Amino acid sequence: MAAQHEKPDVAVIGGGAAGTMAAIASADMGINVVIIEGNDRLAAKIDATGNGRCNISNEFIDDSCYHSSEKFDSNCFFKTFGRDDLLDFFKDHGIYFHEKNGGAIYPRTDSAATISSALKQIAEESGVTVLSGRRAEAASIDKNGCFQINMIDNDGHRSDLETKKLLITTGGKAAPKTGSDGTGYGIAEKFGHTIIETLPALTNIITAESLKAAALIRCDASVKLLADGNEIGHEKGNIQFKTHSISGIPVMQLSGRAAYYLGKGDKCELKIDFIPELSDDDWSGELQRRMDNAAVNGNLTLAEFALGLVHPKIASLVAGKLSLVAESKIRNLNSDVLLKFLRTIRECHFELSGVGSFDEAQTTAGGIDLDEVTSDCESKLVNGLYFAGEILDVDGKCGGYNLTFAMCGGYKAGRSAADSLIQKTGR
Ligand SMILES: Cc1cc2nc3c(=O)[nH]c(=O)nc-3n(C[C@H](O)[C@H](O)[C@H](O)COP(=O)(O)OP(=O)(O)OC[C@H]3O[C@@H](n4cnc5c(N)ncnc54)[C@H](O)[C@@H]3O)c2cc1C
Repeated sequence: MAAQHEKPDVAVIGGGAAGTMAAIASADMGINVVIIEGNDRLAAKIDATGNGRCNISNEFIDDSCYHSSEKFDSNCFFKTFGRDDLLDFFKDHGIYFHEKNGGAIYPRTDSAATISSALKQIAEESGVTVLSGRRAEAASIDKNGCFQINMIDNDGHRSDLETKKLLITTGGKAAPKTGSDGTGYGIAEKFGHTIIETLPALTNIITAESLKAAALIRCDASVKLLADGNEIGHEKGNIQFKTHSISGIPVMQLSGRAAYYLGKGDKCELKIDFIPELSDDDWSGELQRRMDNAAVNGNLTLAEFALGLVHPKIASLVAGKLSLVAESKIRNLNSDVLLKFLRTIRECHFELSGVGSFDEAQTTAGGIDLDEVTSDCESKLVNGLYFAGEILDVDGKCGGYNLTFAMCGGYKAGRSAADSLIQKTGR
């Protein structure tokens, strides 16, 4: 470790999206900054984001894009450094963006490595020192208000580092293979912070029953999450069936809340409408037409009876829920059963048994209680301690919201730490 970095003014634990932005913001204000990163390089997780394309932000951002157990005020949070500032920050370094799929923003190269490489380059240019391959095991504050960080490197060697300002940006528990294994929560707890229960979010949802009949089928649907019969959330879009789970963006958006209500012991269900675009009028006309057809065309199978409404494998899944077989001739089924079959296509209930693990999740619901952190991401309990990114109790929807939250929060935290040092020393 270089001597001048044994006592950096700012130390950042975790060089992901939030931590790297934080370090750059401090360093650009002339502050001596060190990042302690467990991986061999900065921002490794970013390479996996957006299916390798990095959906960094979104044209549309408001409170409804974020979830927290406290009220998260997006206007307030993004006021001093928001989406446009983030995109301008990258544009100032030659990185351009384009918008896709109704608002999602990606680097114009459509390569996530553009963003991770840019962060690495900018950090270097700004003079940030990176202690890679080193994990922080613990941190404490002494009577002079200085922080001590205990680290261990990949070879098991231990060392300590002292700093005036400490930023903890260790991420959550999602995708632990990328380095975010949740150790940051323990470090924060030692400073007296409350950790709201952490749960996997933006993951698949596991059903109590087999979905084999429709495995690998994708379709557009509307999905409602019910907990003990009460509607908790509602999403629309493309979903995919696996043998015991359902994935796709609408389901992922509901997964954090499903994990929470399942944990409380509520009976959780997904109520799926397989033809959400049909108006009530069109649907009642369609029901009438199909029932009239059934009266004269009893040779149709149940799957053929649903032809054009849903994929035959979805018809088979729905039939199975009513203990029917998709190959049955409809002449052998009475009209009440046929009507029930059609209505179930619009209101199909699947009981849930769990959600995907942290290994499969894209983010973490829960984390450091927002009530204990200022809008500049400083701890309200310990002066000079900051948190940003997924470690906080905020999880965003799919669509670039998590990276925006992490990077903007990181930048604000780094700038705020630097500001406070400059005010103190009059530099
Ligand atoms: C597959 C996948 C796809 C995703 N796609 C998108 C997307 O397209 N858009 C979007 O907005 N979000 C996406 N996300 C979510 C987004 O990547 C995260 O929310 C975001 O990276 C969080 O940033 P962070 O800096 O808080 O944490 P992280 O990016 O997880 O960084 C934390 C860093 O801290 C390091 N660290 C942890 N503990 C220690 C320690 N004790 N000592 C030293 N270092 C430590 C880790 O190695 C890691 O580098 C995706 C996530 C995944 C897993």
